[in-house]
Amino acid sequence: MTFRELGLVDPILKALEKEGYKNPTPIQEQSIPILLKGKDLLGCAQTGTGKTAAFGIPILQNIYLDEHRGKGQRKIKALVVTPTRELAIQIGDSFTKYGKFTGLRNTVIFGGVKQRAQTDALRRGVDILVATPGRLLDLIDQGFISLKHIEYFVLDEADHMLDMGFIHAIRKIIDKIPEKRQSLFFSATMPPSIVKLSGKILGEPEKVTIRPQQATADRVEQAVYFVSKKSKPKLLEHILEHQDEDEQGNLGATLVFSRTKYGADKIVKKLRRSEISADAIHGNKSQGQRQRTLGKFKNGETRVLVATDIAARGIDVSGLAYVINYDLPNVPETYVHRIGRTGRANASGLALSFCNLDERPYLRDIQKLISQKIPVITDHQYVDEREDDDPPVPVKKQSARRNHKSRSNNSNGGSNNNPRRKKRNTWRKKR
Ligand code: AMP
Repeated sequence: MTFRELGLVDPILKALEKEGYKNPTPIQEQSIPILLKGKDLLGCAQTGTGKTAAFGIPILQNIYLDEHRGKGQRKIKALVVTPTRELAIQIGDSFTKYGKFTGLRNTVIFGGVKQRAQTDALRRGVDILVATPGRLLDLIDQGFISLKHIEYFVLDEADHMLDMGFIHAIRKIIDKIPEKRQSLFFSATMPPSIVKLSGKILGEPEKVTIRPQQATADRVEQAVYFVSKKSKPKLLEHILEHQDEDEQGNLGATLVFSRTKYGADKIVKKLRRSEISADAIHGNKSQGQRQRTLGKFKNGETRVLVATDIAARGIDVSGLAYVINYDLPNVPETYVHRIGRTGRANASGLALSFCNLDERPYLRDIQKLISQKIPVITDHQYVDEREDDDPPVPVKKQSARRNHKSRSNNSNGGSNNNPRRKKRNTWRKKR
């Protein structure tokens, strides 16, 4: 299937070609025809599947082809609501990329920064607005935004919206948009609260499920280290120091998850002391700092980014080689979101988790959710020796050794003939 076969117009095809997109991802292949027909959509898919283009492209095309699009002041016709500023910025960038040759304009609004630049952009007129809920309601109350002309409404990462307590804000927003509209609803997981919310927003939607509910990204290879809390810093350093280089001598970009902001700063300090370039991204950092940090990580200046879950939403770095769960999350779905940061659209990745004795129950919950036993790397010097009532199933000796040295638990991981490594190297080179 090609993008042309999906019936896309030339200006969009040209933009996709410029982006180097050859074929639609499964969610794009399934969603684009539904959305071009104007139907509502309920998408069960996580970030990393290409879902932004899956909803962005048809919205751009539908607005572009709308004959009634007046010549006067632009009115906001599409609204995308998303939980975090990083995600909002990323979605805005995607609209800019895919809509480059359509003449349509978008802008992004989010809290935590002065509103002036945002209200200036709104005054100049936009067709598509990407927003986080709080700032959106704030600017509506101040009279800078009217949602009266919305024809396309997207609620993105609905499960995170609820986790972050945005339910009332969402209800208020829905009350302000016209009933006659096309609605799109995306969520990585579909617990009953989300199904209920989707019922309030959607008419009779078509459903697209890209990953079965609660499944882990297939392409992501996973492993866990049993390690005491005290030894986690040393293990992290050890892994980073033994990461494989690609053919150009580059080391993989690594995203490390910490449960707390304080913990994230501490990890960064320790890594820097060992001369590993690292930075932290979390809610205590200003928006400017977060953007700068992310920029440096994306262009390869910083090798390790240490993030808390909230701050990491929306981080999309092509070529992210590793995700390391320095702390295991107590909400198993969070694990799925975290490891989805690697193994993006056309790439493979590796997710390593550190698990101390207190975190074993979290590991059990995660394994239950993903219906998989995560292989345990036993052959390392920081093993947590204490007894556990659920002893791990170790990976094979050979592969465990390999795992410890590098990062793969493929049994022939050390060989240059390893197809997986070749694949990863080619992909890393693209960064
Ligand atoms: P998303 O799930 O929207 O966050 O997209 C994940 C990543 O996949 C982003 O870096 C996109 O630029 C990339 N992407 C989306 N669609 C395609 C495609 N058809 N071909 C290649 N890359 C894509």
